[in-house]
Amino acid sequence: MKNLATVLVVDDMLSNSQIIEAVLEDDYNIILAQCATQALKILDSSVNVDLVLLDIIMPDVDGYTLCKEIKFNPLTEHIPVIFISSEKSEESEKKGFNAGGVDYITKPIRPSILAMRVKTHITLKQVQESLREMALRDQLTSLYNRHYLEDSGKKAFAYAKRHNHNLSLAMLDIDHFKNINDDYGHDVGDIVLKELAELLKENIREEDILARVGGEEFVMLFVRSNLENSLKKLEEIRLKVESLQPHNISITVSFGISQLDNSVENFEELLKEADLALYESKTNGRNKSTVYNK
Ligand code: GH3
Ligand code: MG
Ligand code: MG
Repeated sequence: MKNLATVLVVDDMLSNSQIIEAVLEDDYNIILAQCATQALKILDSSVNVDLVLLDIIMPDVDGYTLCKEIKFNPLTEHIPVIFISSEKSEESEKKGFNAGGVDYITKPIRPSILAMRVKTHITLKQVQESLREMALRDQLTSLYNRHYLEDSGKKAFAYAKRHNHNLSLAMLDIDHFKNINDDYGHDVGDIVLKELAELLKENIREEDILARVGGEEFVMLFVRSNLENSLKKLEEIRLKVESLQPHNISITVSFGISQLDNSVENFEELLKEADLALYESKTNGRNKSTVYNK
């Protein structure tokens, strides 16, 4: 795919989609879907969709319902949806906005207006994304910060609970980090933090969430991963940290792990449990993982 923004066009009539495609294809990557199921499959794939153009009347699932699905899923909720319909009534336009659409275009399509509206909403999305990046990243390591974790963690928690998916959370804290600052200086401490952050980044999956939540504390949220797999991953990371030698200094880390089950009410509780387990790792000698024990 070319390095352009990507527009997903969902319409059961291929001839309609082809008209839209002809208008937009010079400026965007265009993907066509002929029903909601196909559209969701594309949105669920690794393709990065920047905007959805959505027909309303379709045979299986209608456009309003599909739009609500897109808005409910934390992974796709930020993608702007523009309805394109021959329905001109105020009522259906209102329904479109209530379903989470950002705009409503009526057929027959006026090519230049379609192109301008698409451009406006893609620009808005990109500006929003870069502001969000700035507000939600930690400056030293460029990892996500606590704000991001709280926001996306809540969503991932709700999603996992609703779909009965596994979800586990690991909190990591560098052992005796204060000594590193004391012995080598704060700047070297910063280098250690950056190198550790890189290692963590390289060792988690793209769908997982990694954040720096305190001075030398990090959180990893493993989506759709059971406790056994998460523990395996953490043990790998623990060993890699042992041999990392940032600035020729040996470091170790301790972990606390919690997992989603029926007794965990919300994301804060999941965090709290991991924190308590981490404390156990610290009091039991450090450089180890402890699973929260109810
Ligand atoms: P423990 O094994 O119990 O975790 O011991 P610790 O020394 O790692 O823990 P403690 O919480 O006592 O110390 C954390 C230190 O991290 C203290 C603080 O100066 C340092 N720190 C916090 N943020 C930064 C930072 O951004 N850069 C550097 N270099 N140091 C930081
Ligand atoms: Mg520490
Ligand atoms: Mg600490």
